[in-house]
Amino acid sequence: GSADEFWATARRHLVRYARSDFSPALIERAAGSYVFDSDGRAILDFTSGQMSGLLGHSHPAIVESVSQSIATLDHLFSWMLSRPVVDLAAALARTLPPSLSKVLLLSTGGESNEAAIKMAKLSTGGYEVVAFDQSYHGVTHASSAATYGVSRAGYGPVAPGNIVVPTPNAYRPLFTRDGRHDWQAELDHAFAMVDRQSTGSLAAFIAEPVLSTGGVIDLPPGYLAALKQKCAERGMLLILDEAQTGLCRTGDWYAFQRDGVTPDILTLSKTLGAGLPLSAVITSEEIEARCHERGYYFATTHVSDPLPAAVGLAVIDVLTQGAYDQTARRLGDRLQRGLSELKDRHEHIGDVRGRGLLQGVELVTDRDTKEPAGDFGSAVTDACFRLGLHLNIVQFPGSSSILRLAPPLTITDTELDRGLDILDQALTAAAQ
Ligand code: PMP
Repeated sequence: GSADEFWATARRHLVRYARSDFSPALIERAAGSYVFDSDGRAILDFTSGQMSGLLGHSHPAIVESVSQSIATLDHLFSWMLSRPVVDLAAALARTLPPSLSKVLLLSTGGESNEAAIKMAKLSTGGYEVVAFDQSYHGVTHASSAATYGVSRAGYGPVAPGNIVVPTPNAYRPLFTRDGRHDWQAELDHAFAMVDRQSTGSLAAFIAEPVLSTGGVIDLPPGYLAALKQKCAERGMLLILDEAQTGLCRTGDWYAFQRDGVTPDILTLSKTLGAGLPLSAVITSEEIEARCHERGYYFATTHVSDPLPAAVGLAVIDVLTQGAYDQTARRLGDRLQRGLSELKDRHEHIGDVRGRGLLQGVELVTDRDTKEPAGDFGSAVTDACFRLGLHLNIVQFPGSSSILRLAPPLTITDTELDRGLDILDQALTAAAQ
């Protein structure tokens, strides 16, 4: 049918699941670092699909693993095991510190956090969950209870016992000392809030090492270690959600490695399936044993499914063979250098930040007052799209106009530079 018919049918039959309208583009095909619209236009994909397509679109190893699995071993009864599942659990454990050895394979990010929070509750006997006010952990009830923005409002108390603390943000610090971000003071302040609000039933602190949807806010080096210490002192677990940062994107296999900290529970999703629904909850023998003893149950329809597990194995294999942690580091430096150069020339850029191939550009109307640039951000992304680059603004309630750049790890230097070039033109166009 025609494009008009397509949009008419979409409007008639689709639930509007986001607050903003659907993208006006009709995408017919995707390959490598590009998506192609119905006019055949090639658009560079700097969102890696929905932050998941770590290896670009239709990577041959993924295509191969899906074709193989769907033809030979597709889906099984929940507690029936197959080789891809056990192989993936072992492969993940090999990439992680020895204490993270027990793996639960699920489908989505929200679901993995739901499962992790339930684990923390059973294992500690508490139920209170602490999170940053700019965290994003999903739209399911427990995960949205720890997401202080889009996914909570209007649903009443999505989970009792949730405690929210301010996000440490070096660009917009709450406390400073000698003109520098005093994150230690902020952490103490956060835990004073926790201790005041807690009824003595703390279960977990859940955090992203780089708060992506909340504004690409990298936790300061040293923060995670101090956070882990605060959690341990209170008998609560540290859950790290590496949906976006996990599996090489930040230049390390896992973002927590930079800080030499091991979480009690790690969740992986998005990047683990590189575009297909696959998530994992990973914890220690001790926590797993305690949960099992107390009746842990998370046997979903797609738990331990062979097909997504085969995809996860292919992802780990490609990342390992290609040393993509190094690649992300090198390309991330190139991207950040390019963005810093843009900052020198474009007044609207207040801050460039991020790690590896997860970078954010905060737009302001005035560098001194740091006044958020408001609609300027959408003018930039619209101009980018017209010029052949898809990137998004992470619009979080109460946060500012922040462009997020997260191209696939398989992007070439030329494609990366082309994206920067388009952004340069778009910033100029939007300022006029
Ligand atoms: N955690 C983080 C850090 C995320 O970015 C997201 C998705 N934006 C989720 C969890 C939720 O994942 P899903 O949409 O697969 O449920």
